[in-house]
Amino acid sequence: MSSKEIALKIFQQGVYGLAKWANFTLPEGCEYPEDCKAIEEAKKLFQWTEKTKIDSLRLLFDFVKLDKGQDWEYYWKPDAIADSTPPIPYPCNRKPTNDDLDNLKQQIAKDLTKLKLAQEDWQNLALLTLIVEKYGSFISFGETDIAFSDLIRSTAAVAAALGENTEATELCLVAGDLSGIQKFIYTISADGALKSLRARSFYLELVTEEVVQQVLAELNLPRTNVIYAGGGNIYILTGSNQAQVEEKINQIRDRFNKWLLEEFQGKIFLALDYVTLKTKDLNTKEISQAWKEAPRKLAKQKQRKFDNQLTDFLKCKPSYEPCKVCHRDDTNDLKQLSQEEDSVLACPTCKKMYDLGGKLLKVNTIVRSQQNQPDNSKDSLIFNFDKFKVYYYLSPSAKTVAQNSELALLVNNWKISDYQFRHCPNPTSFFLGQYAKKSSNSKEQNSTIRANELAEAADGIKRVGYLRMDVDKLGQIFANGLNENLTLPRLAGLSRMMTYFFKAYLNFLAEYRQINTQGFNKLTDKEHQNLLFIYAGGDDLFISGAWNEVVEFAFDIYQAFRAYTGYNPDITLSGGVSLAVSKFPLYQAASESGEAEEAAKNNGRDSLGLFGQVFKWDEWLGKFEIDFVQNQDKDYWKIIKNKPSKPELLGIFPFVSLLQQKQISVEYSRNFVRNLLKVAQIQERMIEDIENQRQEQYNYETQDIKYYLHLPQIAYTLARLPKKVLNNEDFRTSLKSPYNAPYFRAIATWIELLNR
Ligand SMILES: [Zn+2]
Repeated sequence: MSSKEIALKIFQQGVYGLAKWANFTLPEGCEYPEDCKAIEEAKKLFQWTEKTKIDSLRLLFDFVKLDKGQDWEYYWKPDAIADSTPPIPYPCNRKPTNDDLDNLKQQIAKDLTKLKLAQEDWQNLALLTLIVEKYGSFISFGETDIAFSDLIRSTAAVAAALGENTEATELCLVAGDLSGIQKFIYTISADGALKSLRARSFYLELVTEEVVQQVLAELNLPRTNVIYAGGGNIYILTGSNQAQVEEKINQIRDRFNKWLLEEFQGKIFLALDYVTLKTKDLNTKEISQAWKEAPRKLAKQKQRKFDNQLTDFLKCKPSYEPCKVCHRDDTNDLKQLSQEEDSVLACPTCKKMYDLGGKLLKVNTIVRSQQNQPDNSKDSLIFNFDKFKVYYYLSPSAKTVAQNSELALLVNNWKISDYQFRHCPNPTSFFLGQYAKKSSNSKEQNSTIRANELAEAADGIKRVGYLRMDVDKLGQIFANGLNENLTLPRLAGLSRMMTYFFKAYLNFLAEYRQINTQGFNKLTDKEHQNLLFIYAGGDDLFISGAWNEVVEFAFDIYQAFRAYTGYNPDITLSGGVSLAVSKFPLYQAASESGEAEEAAKNNGRDSLGLFGQVFKWDEWLGKFEIDFVQNQDKDYWKIIKNKPSKPELLGIFPFVSLLQQKQISVEYSRNFVRNLLKVAQIQERMIEDIENQRQEQYNYETQDIKYYLHLPQIAYTLARLPKKVLNNEDFRTSLKSPYNAPYFRAIATWIELLNR
């Protein structure tokens, strides 16, 4: 039996089990398939027996522990994933009741009735996979923290890998890493670079997908053996025949690198290797060894990169005027990047990326084909390998996909009927972080918003904001976070949930803000945000937008991610924001937001770098207790006899929010800001002086300045505010509180930029 048939059987069993649980009788032709030897072995490994039951699902993130660990118990609401724009699911503290489970059962029965599963659907692995994922991601199967969908998928992967040799005690894990996209230096102004870079990151996702396609095809594996693929990283479980695996992946790697070298002059490189792991370790924490070994092997390949093509690389080539975008100098085919007067000259690849970038407003379907379709050539990407070519076409919807196309990637799509063969001969689901506001420029119909439009849309100062963000210690969370409990199904669960968040849910957060941010701290309730995702996936993101909206979006993302991960103190994000005029070179803006993010990491992580300041997210959001401030200068606060009590407003957000709501006149706000900044400056200068002299006149002089120096100046500043603000007793006393003194500069800068 082929590995695909084996996987299909397991997913048939999965859908059968779901239907039975939902008291739904499947139509004739949808029979329960018998186990074969490989399936028996895989089920034994993961302890899936006839007695294994569906129940409510605990939040897997609750079991992640690095230093602190989780004190609370969270559950997922038993639910199906909505078709295309689901609200982001947030776990809750309440254990689901039988009624909650019954609701899901009813929905399954209703949807399956509507779907009218036919004989051909029962042979459609992509459709059955989607059914299992759509209805089985928020219920458990067996262990209370293992999702139904993750157990089915993991069992299918192992059984398919065992297919050829059911006695195998060792399997192979193919690991890939496509690196170097960051090396494109964007010296051109932000407008052209935004489009180009957005297209390049899209392109990188497709190259990753093409590597997956070729590995699956050459090793005869079903799609369900992909444990993870995205953002240039690949993990695929395969069989025990090492010689064959080695031969095939060497071929694939060489084929890709030869093409990448020609296309990108060595800037992008594919590392592709494999590690072996004991079959029995897939259900124990020993699996983490493979997860640690794989990146080490890939890193070695990266060091020796392009060894095989070195002679080619060193050959003397003519040198022309370099492309202004990517700096390649091996082509004299340079063209104007855009119609604009000040447009620069760029190579064919960069020109293609620029043109494509503007069109990537919302991709629904991508068709992979080995045939050239001249009608669609404008919206296609061609991978020109030595012996064959592969085309990727953008298509407006799943329905219009050509009948004989080889593969259709349905983007962020959980609509089960779209996966039926009569709509699409060979579908697979694909995730893409891609939100973009549409340009309002009439000349650029259906094009993504431009940098100058983003700047114009901003409140206050007309600037574009750039946000970079990533999960803290993600590698450790995967390798060590679950400690003794790590298994393949749980690893698959963690990576599935991260993919959902960074590729699918981020789009919803940008597009449907209200429903996804209920109960969050927010400055405004604005919808339809002026944002443009440059990259979002894996565990990190790079997003541009009107500066004030980018800042608000950063806080939305943080709060959404924390809620999504059950506020586990060991699962946090760090981020950095930079502001720039729209003509500013993108690489410089990117490196500035990168520095801000680095500063956030150096602030003990879980922090945001913004306006040249770094604080914990909770300090920005005003969600902390005074002992947090006191702990930063423990000895000092110990000797203060009359410790001030917690002020009503504490942190940065509450002050900015209140002043914005009151809409004090620009003149008042300017005075207030100027005075507040003056106080911050005096404090900073005096503290700096002490540090330069390396000597305090008395113990804790620094802390005195930091917390108490501001009082007389603040009284003066306050007296000059309009009555509607002054009448707010909380505001007055809170601003004078020593606990708020460290935040003056951040508060003042934010308000100043909003009112400039
Ligand atoms: Zn170029």
